[in-house]
Amino acid sequence: MTSRDRLLMGPGPSNPYPEALAASAQPLLGHMDPAFLQMLDETNAQLRRVFGTSNEVTFPVSGTGSAGMEAVFANWVRAGDVVVVGVNGLFGERMCEVASRYGAEVVRVDHEWGQPLTAERILSAHPSPSLIAAVHAETSTGVRSDIETIGANKGDALLVMDCVTSIGGEPLEVDGWSVDVAYAGTQKCLGVPPGLAPLTASPRAMERRVERPTSWYLDIGLIAGYLNGNERAYHHTAPTSMVAALHGGLGRIHGEGLDNAFARHALCGGVLQEGLEELGFTLFASAGWRLAQLTTVRLPEGLDETMVRHALLNEFDIEIGNGVGQFAGRIWRIGCMGNTAQLRNVKAFLGALESLL
Ligand SMILES: *Cc1c(COP(=O)(O)O)cnc(C)c1O
Repeated sequence: MTSRDRLLMGPGPSNPYPEALAASAQPLLGHMDPAFLQMLDETNAQLRRVFGTSNEVTFPVSGTGSAGMEAVFANWVRAGDVVVVGVNGLFGERMCEVASRYGAEVVRVDHEWGQPLTAERILSAHPSPSLIAAVHAETSTGVRSDIETIGANKGDALLVMDCVTSIGGEPLEVDGWSVDVAYAGTQKCLGVPPGLAPLTASPRAMERRVERPTSWYLDIGLIAGYLNGNERAYHHTAPTSMVAALHGGLGRIHGEGLDNAFARHALCGGVLQEGLEELGFTLFASAGWRLAQLTTVRLPEGLDETMVRHALLNEFDIEIGNGVGQFAGRIWRIGCMGNTAQLRNVKAFLGALESLL
């Protein structure tokens, strides 16, 4: 089998940092090995810094970003609880679906795709929700939303934030924005292969979690027994090579400096968006709310998008993403996250695309 060296410019996975790949290729450690447990503790400390939190309960859930989403609703929804969800894309829709499977009475606040969430509409959707959930960076549309305003006015509700596409690529302030539970993923701006879902929960959230969740595997109370340095109670085998990769990727990001990593993503996204406009594309996401790490463009009439996308992959080894849902075939999603976020990659993509138009 031939291995292909792809430039991953879709909505994730991104190209991983070499430090992440090298770490996962080290000899395997057991999940009870003190050397591994130290690596896990360091990883959790590194995660607190990218989340912007001092929450003790901060760790990588085993599974991809959606496992983090599932863990949230499994641990914080009781049958009949009112959960207000801001929806402006696919991942908001997915939160509604997952929450409802755990018995939530979902109050869905729909917004036009491509527009940010409106805090006032979400806050006035129900007088006393138990949970409010919102996506910080909607990967299906390339839009950022203001979580801080929701957090400042959330009342007694717990605030849940999906930051799968923002973590490691732009500033997050879980504590500063009054977020109670946040989950993320490794394969976007953290520049680590897919397989873990970093999660953080405030002391207030830990007090209000479900005592005995329907999901045994994702039970935060049981997992906390393993994370706790005194107990280290076996729950399930930690995916040790994945944690090593995350440790390596986070080490790289903190070595570069968080602000430098954010600036690199911002620069690449800016050059990419300018270049696409010069090629005649129209940006899709609402101005002022555009993500640098995930760019969306409308496809012009007459462009054979499948042909061009496949030629990018087959002739140039460059992967980009199609739109999803009603926007499949109508927009493209071009990611510039993690180790992909380098100017030379942006220029290579723009040059390849120009040659195919
Ligand atoms: C990618 C993504 C997810 C889901 O993550 P998976 O790793 O695909 O399970 C959830 N939310 C957002 C905003 C995402 O971009």
